[in-house]
Amino acid sequence: MIKEVYKNIYTFQAVLPKSPLKATNIYIIKDRDKNLVLDTGYHTQETLDSMVAGLAELGLKISDTDLFITHMHADHSGLASDFKNAGCKVYASAVDGKIINDAANGSYWKLLYKLLDYFNVTGGEIMLEDHPGYLFQAPDEVDMDIVAPGDVIKTGEYEFEVINLKGHTPGHIGLYEKKHKIFFCGDTILETITPNITFWGFEEGDALGIYINTLLGLRKMDFDHVFSTHRDLVADHVKRIDEIIDHHILRLQEILDAMEEGVEYTIRDLSPRISWRIKADSWDDFPPAQKFFASGETMAHIDHMIKRGQVHMDEREGTLYFKKIRDRYDAQWLENR
Ligand SMILES: [Zn+2]
Repeated sequence: MIKEVYKNIYTFQAVLPKSPLKATNIYIIKDRDKNLVLDTGYHTQETLDSMVAGLAELGLKISDTDLFITHMHADHSGLASDFKNAGCKVYASAVDGKIINDAANGSYWKLLYKLLDYFNVTGGEIMLEDHPGYLFQAPDEVDMDIVAPGDVIKTGEYEFEVINLKGHTPGHIGLYEKKHKIFFCGDTILETITPNITFWGFEEGDALGIYINTLLGLRKMDFDHVFSTHRDLVADHVKRIDEIIDHHILRLQEILDAMEEGVEYTIRDLSPRISWRIKADSWDDFPPAQKFFASGETMAHIDHMIKRGQVHMDEREGTLYFKKIRDRYDAQWLENR
């Protein structure tokens, strides 16, 4: 069911089969010349059907709109090639646009498998077919219309500025309408759930620190409407940002508390010691897809503490080992927000 959330701005949910997220909130900015759709949901028939039905409620077809992809995750970009094949422009950032295409041609998944060796998770124990991002990604590479922070996309009476939101993914972007104080934040701020922050390799580095810095920047901005892509719309972005930052501080401390002085740990050892939404007492208790997510999220937190001199890392035969340097996470840099 579609609803108008602001003048000529509509939202409906695209279903995500088999996902605990349940749905992606799709936004449509309606315009006489060319409409703009934000994000797509998975590449599945059910999701495509709900996209077509949602658009039809406004009397639109896929070919009547352009598409703006906030970030590369399959629950946001899965139908990118369907839009492209219908003749739409597909806006994405250079970084995430490339990852979407690298996922379609397979090179992204090879890199992800390499990371599992770092975590002491052998490639054979989790299959790519366990990963929803692999199952439901856009099947073909797409010729994107690359946008960068500061670019402006005009739709109807609105002038949307592309905003840099890197953190949840390395090239996450959003749209900000200054005059109307409207902000489309993608997965950067979500109510009731915390966006997954994962490890992208040492070249990217400290995804969690980058994400928190993005949140600190948004915290200073003045928004009347924050349109997020899962669950409820964000009621009070400052309050929610503070809750998310506090959640990560707790999790960082939890990891240090799980490590004994002078003992070395792998990511495989540490992941089950963290309180996740999905309860797992040991590594083997994790459902397969959660092995990808939990190990990546644990590594992002460890990587952040390595960068801040709180954890020491050694690499032996392709596996990473960690020892804590201090007992308390030093959150001083986050005290004056
Ligand atoms: Zn996401």
